[in-house]
Parts: sequence; C-alpha cells; structure tokens
Amino acid sequence: MIYVSKQLEKTGVDFIHVSGGNTIKRGSSMPAPGTSPAPHAHASEEIRKHVNIPVSTVARINEPWVAEELIANGKTDICMIGRPNLCDSEFVNKAAEGKTDDIRPCIGCGRCLTGIMFGNPISCTVNPSVESDEIKEADEKKKVLVIGAGPAGMETAYVAKKRGHEVILCEKSGEFGGLLRLAAVPIAKQELCKVIKFMARRLRNEGIEVRMNCEVTPEMLAGEFKDYEVVCSTGAVPKEIPPFKVFKQTMTADDVLAGRKYPGRKIVILGGGSVGCETADYLAPLIDDMFPANRDITVIEMTASLMPGEGGAAKSQLTMRLKRKGVKIELNSQVTKVDETTITYEKDGQEYHITDADTLIFAVGYAPNKVETTEERVHFIGDCDKVGTLKDAIAAGHKLAEEL
Ligand code: SF4
Repeated sequence: MIYVSKQLEKTGVDFIHVSGGNTIKRGSSMPAPGTSPAPHAHASEEIRKHVNIPVSTVARINEPWVAEELIANGKTDICMIGRPNLCDSEFVNKAAEGKTDDIRPCIGCGRCLTGIMFGNPISCTVNPSVESDEIKEADEKKKVLVIGAGPAGMETAYVAKKRGHEVILCEKSGEFGGLLRLAAVPIAKQELCKVIKFMARRLRNEGIEVRMNCEVTPEMLAGEFKDYEVVCSTGAVPKEIPPFKVFKQTMTADDVLAGRKYPGRKIVILGGGSVGCETADYLAPLIDDMFPANRDITVIEMTASLMPGEGGAAKSQLTMRLKRKGVKIELNSQVTKVDETTITYEKDGQEYHITDADTLIFAVGYAPNKVETTEERVHFIGDCDKVGTLKDAIAAGHKLAEEL
C-alpha cells in the first residue's frame, strides 16, 4: 500500500484515506466494541512517511481526545469519524466548544450497521432519534414520576422534562444505570459506563429532581404522587432453574458480575447467550497456560450457536477470546439433571456427566420485574415491560416520553 499510495500521489489524488479489514475477518473493518482506539493508525502513520499529501485514518475514534492525540503524535493528518457522528450529530461542534462531556457516546456496538444490512432504517443503540434531535413541547404539561434510573427511566425523564413536564425520578438503589452497571463489568464492555455517565449528566443539567435510595410505595402513589403519570422502568431479575439449585454452589451471572458471590475454580455456566459468554470471558484466565490454579470453565448452550442477539463483530471477537482462553463450549447440549455433585447433559443423543464442578452459574435470561396494576396512568417501559437490549430500553423510554 506504500507503493500504491506513492503512485496515487503521482496521479494527483488529494489525500490518501487509510482504512483496513474486510468482511471475512469479522470485526476488522468495523471494529467490535472493546477494540482499542484507531486500530488502523499504525498503517496511516507508516504511509504518511512516504507521501507528501495528507493521510487520514478511521475506526474507533469516538472521543475528541483520541483524534487530537492521533494528529499530535503524527499518526494521521485527518481523522474520519463515522459512527460517533451518527450517535451524536453535534460531535464536532461540541468538541470545538470544549463540551466533550455532552457528546452522546458511541459504544461501538455496531447495531447501526446490522440494521442497514438487513434492510432496516438506520438506527442507533444510544441515540433513539437518529433522524431528528428535535423534541416537541407537550401541549398539556403534566406531572411525571419515573420509577427506576436505568437507561429506559433516564431517557424518559430527560425527554419528558425537555417537553415541559414536571419530572421526578426515584431510584431504589443509590446509583444510576440499573442493569447496565452490570453489563459494563465484563471485558470490553466498559464503554457502557460512558452511557450511564452521559445520561445522568443530562438529568443534572436539566435540573430534574432525582431521589436516590427511594423505593416508591403504594402509599406514596396514592398520596404525594396521586396526580402523576407514573412510568415504571424497574428492570428485570435474572432467572434461575429451581430444580438445579440443589447443586452444591449455585449463583446467577449477575451475582458474579455484581461481586455479590464468588465462584470456585471449576465452573459450569448454563446458557451461551451474551451474558453467559461475557461472564465466562470475565472469569476465565487471561491466558491458557495450564497453570494448575487457572479456572476451568464450561459453557453449556442448548441451541446451535452462541450469543444469538449479538452483532457479528462482537460475537466473533468474544468467541475467539473464549477459545483462546480455553473455555469449553458445548453447543446443542441440554442439561437434563442436576444433583448436589453432578451436572448431567445430553448432546447428540449421548449423555454426559460433569462430576468435578464446584459452581453452577445461571445465565438463562431475565424475567420482567413488573407489578400488576390496572391504573391507566401507570406505564411500563424497558425490561420490566419486555426484556430486551439496551437499544430497546432507550428507544422505549424515548417513545413513551414523546407520547406523554
Ligand atoms: S449503534 Fe452503536 S456503534 Fe452504531 S452509532 Fe450507535 S452506539 Fe455507535
């Protein structure tokens, strides 16, 4: 490419854009979440040495400081920024004004691309209003109580306030983020923290009343909040399989990620969805060096594939990492019986027994954390309505707030 670049310069091109990757090596051209910033910058840096026209690079340049460092350190002359501009069309203006904390963070999840590839309109996980950032003022101003400061609740509270409603947000715990806090724990998922930080900051900037460590009771709903529209965004709780809890030590993936419980050394994870695989990645030794104290992890999944809800790049990167770390993966495998010491599963008509495990971790999905009510003023959004993705939760919160 150095040779090609020189030839291009001779023919009079204005600048060289250095990208990389292809569609066969998934996640190389459109890097997966968790990829280091600017993965092609080593190539643009080298090509820059051999031509006298400007050179640009692209990929995971999702914060202004990354672009500034790349240019200051001679890696590139120009930074191409794709997805972060989709996530926040004011990215560059906010950067120029020094309002970097106000930039809506692109987490690199790739759902924008996944949508387009399947013929859907462009969309974004973190930005539910890709086509227009306009928030219309409400004709009738209401009082709105939002219960739960997860992503759905935070989005509702922000948009409702922007529309002119009077908003109070109550959160049972002392922290923003709900289940997103746990989703940010596994390896390569830390960018999710930026979403929590961004959403919480918006609430503060709008002057929204937030009550932490506040569990809303029926008495409060009938009293202080009797004339409020009530938005429940109370999330979901991890499922367990009660008959399998006879095993000597069981816990949920959430218990592990929250640091509430500590698994042993020989671990079986039930469920090869995103949560199961990310928990395996989190617990597995960083290198598979056969050190005797290394954790030994088996993921048992009853379908034929891992992480069905994940985009291609993220799925590919995580699967390769699990294999590199020596995590055992059993697909098409159904756990049929568990007693105190043995986990039995069936695969291809054969029965297998795991007799030396010390911990069984449930990663078998979530159930909505919903209370039954017939009151018309009560609305349910996010996981407490229907368990879904971060994109589903934020989109549901935004849509409801637009309709209030
Ligand atoms: S969908 Fe994900 S990768 Fe695409 S712009 Fe939004 S946050 Fe970034």
